[in-house]
Parts: sequence; structure tokens; C-alpha cells
Amino acid sequence: MRVSTRLGYSRAYDKLAPDRAVKILLVEDDSILCSRLRDDLGRRGYAVDVAGNGVDAEHLGSEWPYDAVILDLGLPQRSGLDVLRQWRARGNAVPVLILTARSAWQEKVEGFSAGADDYLAKPFHVEELCARLGALIRRTHAQPTGVVTAEGLTLDEARQSVVSGGVLIGLSGVEFRLLRYFMLHAGQVLSKGHLAEHVYDNDSNRDSNVIEVYVNHLRKKLGSGCITTRRGQGYVFGAPR
Ligand code: CA
Repeated sequence: MRVSTRLGYSRAYDKLAPDRAVKILLVEDDSILCSRLRDDLGRRGYAVDVAGNGVDAEHLGSEWPYDAVILDLGLPQRSGLDVLRQWRARGNAVPVLILTARSAWQEKVEGFSAGADDYLAKPFHVEELCARLGALIRRTHAQPTGVVTAEGLTLDEARQSVVSGGVLIGLSGVEFRLLRYFMLHAGQVLSKGHLAEHVYDNDSNRDSNVIEVYVNHLRKKLGSGCITTRRGQGYVFGAPR
């Protein structure tokens, strides 16, 4: 586990609890600014996890269903833009507010092209950050985003689960990302290597053979017919196109 700077995991984190606190990932390498923001957000009732570099940020954002992310763009190890692009490439639709350097309009443009939902230029007042964050979360909750439907299954991003025949089925982080990718590419032949690229973090389990294990988990949970093996090619979710 590479995650070194994180907070709040001493609490039991129940991804399915309906009355859980709004959970934010704060990504900022300036430790003084970061701890100030963490305290300010905490006082306003947010549960805050913290990452101080791009690698930890990408990992945490891929692993946990945050309600929103505050993402500084200038980060060690991996830039904020790269982190954001990775999330979006994997179908992670978490609302993201980027922090840009003052007057760097290119950063703002690049940030929006990479999939940012809002931005704030440094330096900023924490009141403005909280107002924008609140608006972003309300906007997201007001829209039926994050729900993917295919082949009679409905994926619930917020609860990291899937509904099949009216039954809610819980999924692990990797299972969820794998199923989401399958559902967004229903009917297409997807190789193990391709799936591994899109489903794993750049961490430990990059071995594409492990995909087979997760495909079998999904078959056990959803029925063996949901994913077909194409010998030497990969897998197809749902009816082939
Ligand atoms: Ca920075």
C-alpha cells in the first residue's frame, strides 16, 4: 500500500450507509494549505481524506466513492491533469474542482478538457471554495449522473453496487470498475490486457491474468451468462454486437 497521507480511515467507512457524511478527497501538496483546508472543511461537516501527491490521489480516487474531489494541478509524482484524465478514462465521474495557479488560463482550459467540473484560481478564500464545493455537490446530486444501465443491470456509482432484478449486489472496488467498464462497452470483445489497463490502479495487481479471477467473481454474483469468454481474444459482456 503506497498511500501514506490519508485521514479518516480509522472510522469504519460504510460505503452503503445512507446517512453518511459527505466525503471529500482533498489533493494538495502544500502541507500548510492542505491542513488548513482540511480543518476548514471538517468544521463545515465534511469528512476529508487527504493526498499529497498524484499517485496517492489517483489510487484513493479510484478506490473510494467520494462525493467530490478538490484537486490541485501542480503535484509531485503525477500531475493533477494526469490524475483526472486517468479517472475519466476509467469512467470515474466523481465531481472534481481543480485548483489552478492565478492567471494560468491554459491550466483552466486543459482542466476542463480533462473533465474538471469547476475551478478556483489560487489564492482563494476558503468561503469561496466551500460555496463552490457545495454547489458542485448539489448539482451532481440533482442530476441522475453516475447511473449506468446495460443488459438489465443498473450500476450505482454512489453506492458502488449493482441492481439486478431488484436486488442490490455489493461490489469490491475492482469488481465495480470492471463491471462498469464492461457495461459501458457491452457487446464488444475486450482483451484481458485492455481490461487490466482500464481497471487497475498503477499499483500492485497489473497482472492481466488476475482479470480472470475478477470476471469469475462477477459471474458468481450476476450469473455465469453475463460475461462470455472468447478463446484467445478476451471477454464479451452481454449479447455480442
Ligand atoms: Ca501544488
